[in-house]
Amino acid sequence: MKEIILAYQGEMSLKGLNRATFESVLLKTMRRRLKSLGNFKIYKAQSTMYAEPAGDEDIDAAEERIGKIFGIAAISRAAVCPKDFAVIADTAKEYLCGALRAAKTFKVSAKRSDKTFPMDSMEIARELGGVLLSAYPHLKVDVHHPDVNVTVEIRDFAAYVHGGKKPGAGGLPVSTSGKAALMLSGGIDSPVAAYMMAKRGLSLACVHFASPPYTSERAKQKVVDLAKLVAKYTGPIKLNVVNFTDIQLYIYDQCPHDELTIIMRRYMMRIAEAIAKESDCLALITGESIGQVASQTLQSLGVTNAVCELPVMRPLIAFDKQDIVDISLKIDTYETSVLPYEDCCTIFVAKHPVTKPNLKRIEMSET
Ligand code: ATP
Ligand code: MG
Repeated sequence: MKEIILAYQGEMSLKGLNRATFESVLLKTMRRRLKSLGNFKIYKAQSTMYAEPAGDEDIDAAEERIGKIFGIAAISRAAVCPKDFAVIADTAKEYLCGALRAAKTFKVSAKRSDKTFPMDSMEIARELGGVLLSAYPHLKVDVHHPDVNVTVEIRDFAAYVHGGKKPGAGGLPVSTSGKAALMLSGGIDSPVAAYMMAKRGLSLACVHFASPPYTSERAKQKVVDLAKLVAKYTGPIKLNVVNFTDIQLYIYDQCPHDELTIIMRRYMMRIAEAIAKESDCLALITGESIGQVASQTLQSLGVTNAVCELPVMRPLIAFDKQDIVDISLKIDTYETSVLPYEDCCTIFVAKHPVTKPNLKRIEMSET
C-alpha cells in the first residue's frame, strides 16, 4: 500500500499576497530537509504540501523531519488509493486495522475537494462508517471524542485515507520574517529563545563568546552541538565563535568587581551587534528572562540594552524557568544544555554583583 505525507499550512494562509512566497519557501524547505532521505517528490495542491516517496524511502524519518518544519500546522500520514468507494473502504479497513482493533470508538470524517466524485462527504462518512462497523463489530461510533478519526480526503490526484491529523511545528516558514543574530551560550535558555524566534519565521546566525583557556574545548563543542540541535528546526546556522579572553581579563583588571558582569555583557552586546550588522541581521536575540539573575533585572537589562542600536528580542522575558525547561525538553536541547561545562559568564563573577546598575556610573567605569 502506498503511503504519503500530507502537510497542512497554518497561519500563512492568512497572508494574502505573500502566500505564494510563503508556500514556495515551504516547498524548498521540505525538499532540502528530506533530500538526504532519498527520492521524495514534494509538491503542492489545494494549499496542502505532499511528500511522496518514489520507492521504499524511510517515511518514519520523513515524518519526523517534516514535524520540525515551521509553517506546517498539521500533518497526516495517509494511504493513497484510487477514487473509488469500494477501494477506499478496503484501504481504510486494512490501513487502519491496528488502530481500529485497539480502539473502542471511532468516527469517519470525509472531505471532498474533487466535486466530480459521485458521493458527497456525508454519504462517504455514513457508508464507510457502516463498512467499518461490520468489519470491526467491537467498535462504537463517537462523533465527539473518538479514539480514531478515520479520515478520507478526496482530492485532485487520488483519495487519501488516514487516522486523523497530528499537530505540526506551527509558526511561519523560516526566513520569511528576515534574519537575526542569536547570542548562544551553553545554557538552557538561549537554544529555547532560538527555537521560539525561528518559529516566527526568522532565520538565524549565532554568536558565542568563549574565553579559552578559562573555558574548555568541551564547552565550545557543547555549543556547536546545541547549534546543531537547533538547526533541526531552523536549517543550517552559521556559528560565530568570538574569543573573549582578552576583553574579559582587561575588564577584570580595570573595573569595579561588582560591575564585572554587567560591563562584560555590554561588551558582548556591542560585539554581537557588529557581527549581526555584518551578516545582514536586523535584530539580536537573547535568552534573558526578567529577574532570573542579577544581570537580568529591569535596571540591568536597561543598562545592557543601552549599547545597542538594533532591536534586542528576548522571547523568554516573561517565562518562568520551568516553562523554559519544558520547551527545552520538548525540542531536545535540555540534556546537552545541562552538561556541566564552564561558561565565560561564570568564570569571573563577583560575589555580590550589582542588581540595580546606574547607566552613568557604568559608563564611567568603562572609560
Ligand atoms: P542561558 O541559559 O541561555 O545561558 P542564563 O540564564 O545562563 O542563560 P546569562 O548567562 O545571564 O543567563 O545569559 C543571558 C543571555 O546572554 C543568554 O541567554 C544568551 O543569549 C547570552 N549569553 C550569555 N553567555 C553567552 C555566551 N558565552 N555567548 C553568547 N551569548 C551568551
Ligand atoms: Mg548562561
